[in-house]
Amino acid sequence: MPTATRANPLSYLTGQLNDLKSKGTHFRLRVLEDEQAPVCTFDGKKVINLASNNYLGLTTHPKLREAALAATRKYGVGSGAVRTIAGTMKIHMELEEKIARFKNVEACVVFQSGFAANAGTVSAVLGKDDFIISDQLNHASIIDGARLSRAKILVFEHKNIADADAKLASVQHEPGKKLLISDGVFSMDGDIGPLPALCDLAEKYAAIMIVDDAHASGVLGRNGRGTIDHFNVHGRVDIQVGTLSKAIGALGGYVCGTRDLIDFLYHRARPFLFSTSHPPSVAATCIAAFEVLEQEPERIQKLWENTRFWKKELGLLGFNIGGVNTPASETPITPIIVGDGKLTMDFSRELFKQGVLGTGITYPTVPEGKARIRTIMTATHTQDELDQALRMLKKVGQQTGVLN
Ligand SMILES: *Cc1c(COP(=O)(O)O)cnc(C)c1O
Repeated sequence: MPTATRANPLSYLTGQLNDLKSKGTHFRLRVLEDEQAPVCTFDGKKVINLASNNYLGLTTHPKLREAALAATRKYGVGSGAVRTIAGTMKIHMELEEKIARFKNVEACVVFQSGFAANAGTVSAVLGKDDFIISDQLNHASIIDGARLSRAKILVFEHKNIADADAKLASVQHEPGKKLLISDGVFSMDGDIGPLPALCDLAEKYAAIMIVDDAHASGVLGRNGRGTIDHFNVHGRVDIQVGTLSKAIGALGGYVCGTRDLIDFLYHRARPFLFSTSHPPSVAATCIAAFEVLEQEPERIQKLWENTRFWKKELGLLGFNIGGVNTPASETPITPIIVGDGKLTMDFSRELFKQGVLGTGITYPTVPEGKARIRTIMTATHTQDELDQALRMLKKVGQQTGVLN
């Protein structure tokens, strides 16, 4: 029992939470009670799910499920160690070889998550005398990796090539290494990074080029090979990061590049060295997922069909789906920009009551004044579900004043 005389040193957190509550942006976690699917049960309520990253419906694909079960039966539930000590199983190597072949690169290393892949890689390849030139809207894991590296961070305006050029020019005579980094698809706006122009810049300044393809893996490019394939800039991106947690349906992140890059990361990437590797079931699931990407291209086609329909209809209803003071989405991520944080959360809560899960996203995940409901289409939403969701969005949009 704590003694009555000791004041709680964490009491200031309660104050900060109260601040969020008074601003209307405090949230409780919604709890999923069945499978991650287009229609599922959160907090006891059946809803149409517009919030997951399960682009291709692979979280419940029978082949992936079976692969996970078979690997568990054969190899147990855990790897028992970090990769460099005793936790590299044959199935981990098989997955990495599979991804490297899929991406047409020399080698690949898998991390526990996309976050770990970015943070671990950026911090390993740079040091304090180096420079990282980073898009303003890059993912938090890139920002954290940059901070951990202690390199000097130069942020360029979102997708602004002239600004990126100016930033690179400003340090071109410095002795440190330069690293240019962009998301392939930006996670909150759904727009695509300008890879060909960024590759030109990286070549002009002899900078290392990294692309984080978390939201592009399984979505863009042939069979979901990502933005490098979409733009055909093969061989011009030194480090490709991807995730196994979104379209791939399971969990993990990966880095693709030369054999030496991967070998170096084995020796220096801290999440690789200091955190246990995936359970064999996860590796087996991901191997099966890459097989599905090659065997069932119709899933990606359906994803894009649904995406085109969804964007068109949301626009017709009069929602701001980006493009005005915010980037215009080009992918299955379609934000409904509301602006005000509290109104966004009210809109989201009211939608939920009507049977639609559209999660409100506010500051600091997006800039102040650009709060939104981020919708993400999947290949598995049916026409009927989409029609129903649109009716609810219209009704609640009018009721809350988001639509007028
Ligand atoms: C989701 C995301 C990540 C993190 O991936 P996880 O596998 O979920 O850790 C990294 N980068 C971007 C751009 C993302 O959207």
